[in-house]
Amino acid sequence: MKQRIMMVGPTDVPERVLDAMHRPSISHRSPEYMETHQRVRDGLKKIFQTENEVYILTSSGTGAMEAAIQNCFSFGDEVVVAVMGDFSDQFARMAEAYQLKVRRVKFEAGERADVDTVMAQVTDATKGVFIIHNESSTGVFNDLKAFGDRLKDTNALLIADSVSGAAGLPVKMDEWNIDILLSSSQKALMTPAGLSFISLNKRAWDRVESSNIPKYYFDLRKARDFQEKNQTPNTPAVYTVFAVDEALKMIFEEGYDNVIRRHEENTQRLIAGVRELGYGILPKEDAGASRTLTAVTAKGKAKKIVAFLQSEGIIVNGGLGNLAEDMFRVGIMGHVYPEDVEAFLDTLAKFKE
Ligand SMILES: *Cc1c(COP(=O)(O)O)cnc(C)c1O
Repeated sequence: MKQRIMMVGPTDVPERVLDAMHRPSISHRSPEYMETHQRVRDGLKKIFQTENEVYILTSSGTGAMEAAIQNCFSFGDEVVVAVMGDFSDQFARMAEAYQLKVRRVKFEAGERADVDTVMAQVTDATKGVFIIHNESSTGVFNDLKAFGDRLKDTNALLIADSVSGAAGLPVKMDEWNIDILLSSSQKALMTPAGLSFISLNKRAWDRVESSNIPKYYFDLRKARDFQEKNQTPNTPAVYTVFAVDEALKMIFEEGYDNVIRRHEENTQRLIAGVRELGYGILPKEDAGASRTLTAVTAKGKAKKIVAFLQSEGIIVNGGLGNLAEDMFRVGIMGHVYPEDVEAFLDTLAKFKE
């Protein structure tokens, strides 16, 4: 039976990307590594749509979130975090762990972060506003441009986690005035976990100078120095760098805009399809429904559906926490094509209680 991996992360890794890792080891100080690093760095700048440097960290996505806090903030800084689900809540808890003063602005599961509601909590003392681009626990994406427009002339940095967005949902770091943008390898970039990516603009780098939080492994000043020679301060996950290199080639061969359009079309088909079958989606408004994963509501049946789909070779994810019985999540990130969406819908149609 053909397996279709439609997870929300880690996502399906294409054969080409797997093959790119099947090769002898190389030194991370060799010219061959440096060439690969350069290509990945340039490719990631296109995905982030930025002229700023994108640094390659060896960690899962959470590491880049932590790097943002350690490098650009100081103990006691006031920050605002829009909380719409588990990943945004993790950002708030992490900021608290670093002794920042956190104001949480809470939204119900399925709601987007409303810009006016968040901005009402921002004062002259606010040093940063943390927004998850795509909240993977509820299948909702936020309007980063609207936040950038409102924050660019304030003292607050806009920190955006696009771990489950970038390369599936458009994200325009420079045009949207995002000060810190981060992502990781195992979501829409369709490679194994192991790398995270972070970019800072000038405003964010200025904060690095005054930050008093200790850092060592994630000291971005070191990453900046090593980037000049297309290297990283410590041994990176070299094989994941090979994988990202190949995945970026695939994205640019298909055409970045075509990739984004495929995610959009797959999402629309999937949402229409589940509705035809009598299910719903968790996002309150279709405009805010994620284009990289769909949170499907199925009251009291979600766990059974996930198990049934798995028995038919379709791997999706359940809902987190108290949503586990009533919702499941279907990833359409990266290596997912219309035939996968059709196979998912055909199989879901066969589910009987
Ligand atoms: C997956 C994810 C992360 C990071 O998770 P890791 O397991 O550390 O890679 C962060 N934010 C969002 C929105 C995610 O979907």
